[in-house]
Amino acid sequence: MSRIFCIANQKGGVGKTTTSVNLAAGLARVGQRVLLVDLDPQGNATMGSGVDKRKLEASVYDVLLESASVAEARSRSESGGYDVLGANRELAGAEVELVALEHRNERLRRALKAADADYDFVLIDCPPSLSLLTLNGLCSAHGVIVPMQCEYFALEGLTDLVNTIKQVHANLNRDLELIGLLRVMFDPRITLQTQVSDQLKAHFGEKVFDTVIPRNVRLAEAPSYGLPGVVFDPASKGAQAFIDFAREMVARVSSAAPSTTPHTLVG
Ligand code: ADP
Ligand code: MG
Repeated sequence: MSRIFCIANQKGGVGKTTTSVNLAAGLARVGQRVLLVDLDPQGNATMGSGVDKRKLEASVYDVLLESASVAEARSRSESGGYDVLGANRELAGAEVELVALEHRNERLRRALKAADADYDFVLIDCPPSLSLLTLNGLCSAHGVIVPMQCEYFALEGLTDLVNTIKQVHANLNRDLELIGLLRVMFDPRITLQTQVSDQLKAHFGEKVFDTVIPRNVRLAEAPSYGLPGVVFDPASKGAQAFIDFAREMVARVSSAAPSTTPHTLVG
């Protein structure tokens, strides 16, 4: 059975795609079978995995409209060692088309069920909004991973996101929980970042991942080569941090209680 995680934060540029691609590659490196679903019409996770979004024969768009299965629409990231359900601009239209369709929140969930046996982890890179696309992600997932920069306004946005997760949990998907907050682009020399990091720990406790992703230029360079940072420069600090994070996720999943017990969200 696969464990399904959304990488979500309604802000843009906070590191969702970098986290999705490098966690996928990190998990593959430690022997996990991974599917990365690109739910952002920008297609950055697709390109960053070395899959050309302009040449997709089928994509997540076809899956959402039920004209292709996951098995038919997936591509392979040869460099990353994982599968990709790619996205391109066509996906922007899905938003409007879905509104008129039955089970519009649950299309991705239904499609992923059919591929359940193929993967240990499914990661969903969400767009920077609370759209029908993100809702499809949240309705499919067991948990949400929230990448965030330790800046003052990061905390403000977090309240909205936590409330959204609570609402989806209450109304649409009882499996959904906030798995954790991932501190990304972290620079310990910046006092404010250390202070916000301490506040996060004080407020969210166990929900803050132990792994911290540093600001590292190699992670930012990698997408222009169509490679995950973990593959582009495995010895870099950024790559090492994502491999640590992959191990932390594997440990969390294997120690998690079966999903028959009630989930606790953040308080
Ligand atoms: P999002 O998907 O939330 O919009 P991205 O993952 O695309 O965010 O990241 C935004 C920008 O920040 C990109 O240019 C990316 O290369 C850069 N970036 C992300 N994480 C790091 C990091 N740890 N160190 C340096 N640059 C980073
Ligand atoms: Mg992105």
